[in-house]
Amino acid sequence: MTTALVDGFGRVHRDLRISVTDRCNFRCAYCMPEEGMQWQRREDLLTFEEIERVARIMVERYGVDGIRLTGGEPTVRAKLPVLVEKLAALGVDLAMTTNGVSMPLLATDLKAAGLRRVNISLDSLRADRFEELTRRDELDRVLDGIDAAVAAGFEPVKVNVVVMKGINDDEVVDFAHFGRERGVTVRFIEFMPLDADEVWNNDRVLTQDEILATLRTEFELEPIPRTTAPATRWRHADGRGEIGVVASVSQSFCDTCDRVRITADGQFRNCLFATDETDVRSLLRDGSSDDVVADALARSVASKWAGHQINQVHFIRPRRSMSEIGG
Ligand code: SAM
Ligand code: SF4
Repeated sequence: MTTALVDGFGRVHRDLRISVTDRCNFRCAYCMPEEGMQWQRREDLLTFEEIERVARIMVERYGVDGIRLTGGEPTVRAKLPVLVEKLAALGVDLAMTTNGVSMPLLATDLKAAGLRRVNISLDSLRADRFEELTRRDELDRVLDGIDAAVAAGFEPVKVNVVVMKGINDDEVVDFAHFGRERGVTVRFIEFMPLDADEVWNNDRVLTQDEILATLRTEFELEPIPRTTAPATRWRHADGRGEIGVVASVSQSFCDTCDRVRITADGQFRNCLFATDETDVRSLLRDGSSDDVVADALARSVASKWAGHQINQVHFIRPRRSMSEIGG
């Protein structure tokens, strides 16, 4: 029987984000330190069978209908299309967030395996800045990856841009043009305090209002009615494309949040900013029944807090950085 994953504020959780690895072939400055990352031991990562089991429990018992694969960089996990095929068989809206660099090689296989949607992260269209931000000289391959995703038939392909004041905020208009030209939806994301080097501060956040004011100097934009999705969206008045803004810092959407996460090492998180986790991996490996696993998930969601409190004095930074949680 299906019940719902409901928290104490009545929010129903239907969207599961699965980090399939904590490793990455990039080192984005706002996400991972350049050196010294301690990778999880391989035996501590959930196997495909374990991931499938948790996902199946959540889909069958709690009506989860959206799953997003993330990381680290999900495409560095060997045989990813095999996992995609297993999860696609659950009948969910299956998506992935990737840095795009492996999409020229993998896009067709992932589509054939049942992946429905992709978001590709790209924070600069300028080669020198891209290299500074990602610490990799791979802009052309990421651009090819975006084209490969479109050519493979993913619809829509979204491009995620983390906007940081004084770093890439002068590219907001360029990105909107880029989206219209390439036939992809650009989503600007406010910089969040989950960077590994802990350089985040409020002055670095270009807010949704500022992003929109910048875009309106060049484009006529019309609002699209909001859904429970985190992005607020606008369409270009000439009908050519749309843009979105994920205003996690300036206009938190905690009230309508329907997401839960599982890290690559099998820790269940009821909030991106959660300071504690539920150890699902131990339950998966100690012979616990599906009922026991399902109860642990439900208890974690039931104890979820109201919201993340960034910008409040009592905000506590999570121990893990974005690359370990998965975004
Ligand atoms: N490696 C994949 C990628 O880059 O798309 C997936 C994992 S990455 C952690 C998921 C998303 O988090 C990316 O879109 C990335 O830009 C975003 N991200 C990372 N650090 C962030 C931060 N401090 N604030 C806001 N977004 C961040
Ligand atoms: Fe890797 Fe994605 Fe983090 Fe960049 S944002 S370091 S690509 S996990």
